[in-house]
Amino acid sequence: MWCACGSRAMKPVLVVEFGERSSALQYNLTAVFAWAADCILLSILLLPLWLRNRARMFILLWSAALAMMGVGLLGLTYVDPKANLLFALPIAALVVAEALSAAGLISLYGEDRPLRFTVLSLSVWLAAFILFSISSFGPVAAVASYFLAVIVIAIYALHFLKYHATFKEVRFHRSIPLIFLFEAVSALAIAVTYVLEGPAAPHEGALASITLIAGFVLFSAKIFLAVWLSIEKYEFYLKRLAFHDPLTGILNRRGFFEKIGQRLKTASATDIFAYLTIDIDHFKSVNDQLGHSAGDAAIVRFTSTVEDGIDLSYLFGRTGGEEFAIFLKVEDERAAIGLAERIRLLLADTGHRHTAGSTPLTVSIGIAIQRGAGFDLETMLSQSDRALYAAKNNGRDCVVAYGAGEPPGTAERLQA
Ligand code: GH3
Ligand code: MG
Ligand code: MG
Repeated sequence: MWCACGSRAMKPVLVVEFGERSSALQYNLTAVFAWAADCILLSILLLPLWLRNRARMFILLWSAALAMMGVGLLGLTYVDPKANLLFALPIAALVVAEALSAAGLISLYGEDRPLRFTVLSLSVWLAAFILFSISSFGPVAAVASYFLAVIVIAIYALHFLKYHATFKEVRFHRSIPLIFLFEAVSALAIAVTYVLEGPAAPHEGALASITLIAGFVLFSAKIFLAVWLSIEKYEFYLKRLAFHDPLTGILNRRGFFEKIGQRLKTASATDIFAYLTIDIDHFKSVNDQLGHSAGDAAIVRFTSTVEDGIDLSYLFGRTGGEEFAIFLKVEDERAAIGLAERIRLLLADTGHRHTAGSTPLTVSIGIAIQRGAGFDLETMLSQSDRALYAAKNNGRDCVVAYGAGEPPGTAERLQA
């Protein structure tokens, strides 16, 4: 059993006494015990966090991993390493903890695979344990096979990240493969050292201390990464929500202007920019004739038609109800007019599809052009608005470019 002791001078404040074990072992076991208590406490503290939002599987997986780690570590302090089979039990709990923590990190990428990680790592561990035990490795068998399982978990996690990870938007995601790589290499080094010169009692001596410290540092690093990644991930989702239109999925007004600001930061004085205001013609009558949800569907189809028809590097956003905008760098004004015409004709070609057989959907487009030097977005917006206004006045289904200094009434109407 254990007890806290040490009021006498020069003695540690807390040493947990584990039966008849040597004093070197007492220190290692005290560290293991403190670590186990920490894991179990953290595991319990994580549960209310998961209960707040049960979709966050990684929290549950980490809570389970910490609980298993706590149980495994506590087991290590109680079971005599020489009782090979019994000693294998806490080690198996630690293997499951490793598998669940890796699965937790992976689930941040949108895939929950706790069972696969657990089954794979436990099978590898068991196979290695049986093999090592038959080869009379003694108590080292359990420890060495644990590190082999850790290597397999790390390799499987790396394999998953390479071929299946879909969530790569967060900046920090590159550190995850690195931590698994580091884990695999250090586990290999420790496993080899144990097999070559491991002590008869695997948690005694300097090697055991090094192993403990390495394990603790790596596990803490993984917890830190998990927290960091989850924060980045939720920030990313919040930004997506704030900057994208829920109906069409494209940039909303806020996101569109935010991106324009980013583009302008790297613009040079000679760059030429075009702003296209695209407004669906007589959209009110689409709603009136077909109903609001058919109107919504028409907006979605219109958006995907434009998205499919334009270069991905252009900024395309929904700036108002049935008003959209495109911002791009162009060679000259004619290139911008050409793009606007392409969009107008694209819709004219597919217009019937957009309104389920009623009057085909058409758009009017107003264009404003500005150079990087002395760029003024406000002016650009009002110019393209005035050009759009002229397009509507010119009978709709047309493109009007705001000429430099030209009043919109004299702007050119371009025929197909
Ligand atoms: P104009 O050719 O002058 O642009 O005529 P319009 O009818 O398109 O213009 P107006 O601005 O009068 O009407 C726009 C309509 O677009 C009114 C509004 O009900 C509809 N609208 C705006 N946002 C949405 C939306 O998200 N879904 C649907 N179904 N309709 C929308
Ligand atoms: Mg309209
Ligand atoms: Mg409008």
